[in-house]
Amino acid sequence: MMLERGSIADRYASLREEIDAAMRSLGRSLGAARVVAVTKFQPRDAIVEAIAAGVASVGENYVKEAEGKLAGLPVRKHFIGHVQTNKARRIAQLFDVVESVDRVEAARALERAAAALGRALPVLLQVNISPSERFGVTPDRFDALLDEVRTLEHLRVEGVMAIAPIAATREETSRAFEWARACFERSGGDVLSLGMSGDWREALAAGSTELRLGTAIFGPRPAKEAIGR
Ligand SMILES: *Cc1c(COP(=O)(O)O)cnc(C)c1O
Repeated sequence: MMLERGSIADRYASLREEIDAAMRSLGRSLGAARVVAVTKFQPRDAIVEAIAAGVASVGENYVKEAEGKLAGLPVRKHFIGHVQTNKARRIAQLFDVVESVDRVEAARALERAAAALGRALPVLLQVNISPSERFGVTPDRFDALLDEVRTLEHLRVEGVMAIAPIAATREETSRAFEWARACFERSGGDVLSLGMSGDWREALAAGSTELRLGTAIFGPRPAKEAIGR
């Protein structure tokens, strides 16, 4: 157990160093890219350890899983999973930002939930840049979605999130990231959430301001059955 605990802190520290080095070589200012630790299927102990190691933001994909696990933790909570309209209320209650708004119905459900809670809810619009990804608005329909979401009083569009194609070459990944970046530039926001454990270098080169990192921090994910959702 001690070894495992130490390794989260060690991995996070060396990852931060690698990210800073990459930012320096890109001529970008350090601190211009935030790390969101993706904690799906990770036990609460591991999250507590990551927070002790300096993690300030976590990302979760499943509402039910996050509800018990994240309760009371001093960390910024990002919802990065598919937004089901019947879970909008719980998402708006539990999370500080929703990164995965990809259609008008989801946005409207979150708007109603945020209004009922009397809060403003920061959101990112999820752009689909990959044939392997089920969710996200396609780049050609991005502006229409953006226009709709901007009319919703309680949602604040802070930028764009996207997931790279699976098993793509570095060139394909970089090209896909450019599609997301083009949408981001029209969004009026300042958050570009691109980059996971396998492609964060390409993401930083494409201007990402937020990396969503799971396995690079925690190691291989436990099976979801171990947590229950
Ligand atoms: C699981 C997940 C991640 C993290 O993936 P890793 O490859 O473990 O870094 C990032 N973003 C989303 C949307 C995810 O579902």
